[in-house]
Amino acid sequence: MTIISTFNAEDKPKKDNNKSNNTTLKSEQTILDQQFEPSLRPQTLEQYIGQPRLKELLKVCIGAAKKRGDLTSTGHFLLYGAPGLGKTSCAIIISRELGTEAKVFSAPALAQPKDIIGVLLSLNVGDVLFIDEIHRLNKVTEELLYSAMEDFVLDISVGKSQAARVTRLPINRFILVGATTRLGSLSSPLRDRFTHIYKMEFYSHDELIIIIKNTSKILKFEISDEAALEIARRSRGTPRIANRLTRLVRDYSQHENINITKKEDAISALELFKVDLHGLEESDKQLLRTIIESYSGGPVGIEAIAATLGEEKQTVEDCYEPYLLQAGFLTRTSRGRMVTDLAYKHLNIEKNKNTNDQLKLGLEN
Ligand code: ADP
Repeated sequence: MTIISTFNAEDKPKKDNNKSNNTTLKSEQTILDQQFEPSLRPQTLEQYIGQPRLKELLKVCIGAAKKRGDLTSTGHFLLYGAPGLGKTSCAIIISRELGTEAKVFSAPALAQPKDIIGVLLSLNVGDVLFIDEIHRLNKVTEELLYSAMEDFVLDISVGKSQAARVTRLPINRFILVGATTRLGSLSSPLRDRFTHIYKMEFYSHDELIIIIKNTSKILKFEISDEAALEIARRSRGTPRIANRLTRLVRDYSQHENINITKKEDAISALELFKVDLHGLEESDKQLLRTIIESYSGGPVGIEAIAATLGEEKQTVEDCYEPYLLQAGFLTRTSRGRMVTDLAYKHLNIEKNKNTNDQLKLGLEN
């Protein structure tokens, strides 16, 4: 079992050590990169940009729990939405605001019952246990969590076959923050044990500009608002992507020895790294092209799209669709998915009349 990370309330953002040793081995470089990421993480609710409803919820719950002097009375949180939208960061902030520790795991790291038992026994009062991809927990681990979440006890079976008996072990009261991209794949007994279920929203350009400018300060290079907007437009509404693109632009700025003051500077940098104007990836474009070429632009059912792409229906629904819908490349009608004019324009494909007629039919239904 691997603990991905432990974050203590007193942890300071780690320093960028990259400058100190340019003969770093690849494995060490990976460690440095991982150390680097937390320094871009928001450390407090104040620094957590966007998600206004979530922030309000946390302010109220955490404030009230502190007043009551019972940190864990916030209840458990389930956060769902696309990767990179700030679920892990949120869990770490909850622990920092409470002055406790966050232990961060991915569900596959808790494959054995002894893994989750060990973790639960190691928690102090008020600690935050973050489980990413919580829908991937196996049945035994999940069932162990039920009594832990509800009654803060572990029901452990001791002995074999007829001699087996269940022993109850009390554990410290903790806060579980579960994250998933697939709310529908969570069993209802697990889902029902969360006090708060929150859908992570994509970020607006204005919110991403704030994140990009904060990141540029940490990375020590200057960027103007208009240049930051060019990064935001290509970030798929996702802070993790905004940060990745900001690093690319920083590399360009340092290589060219310029501050990124004009939008043209950011555009040159992003074009150099072949970043799509709307942040679409090849898989997104393939999905849109499939609907256009194989189904005359739609409407077409999600099963048919998935079969043509050779992907699982769930993957199309959870990973590709949300951003394409949000960005206006795809619409959902009662008769299935349709690509929009924006998609034709972006892919430089001419729309024929048949497709237009189908578009009207689909939208009218
Ligand atoms: P998830 O757990 O949803 O995959 P993370 O919490 O790991 O996403 O976020 C990825 C990165 O994006 C973080 O390290 C942080 O730098 C940035 N980030 C995410 N959400 C925010 C936010 N609300 N404000 C500022 N930065 C954010």
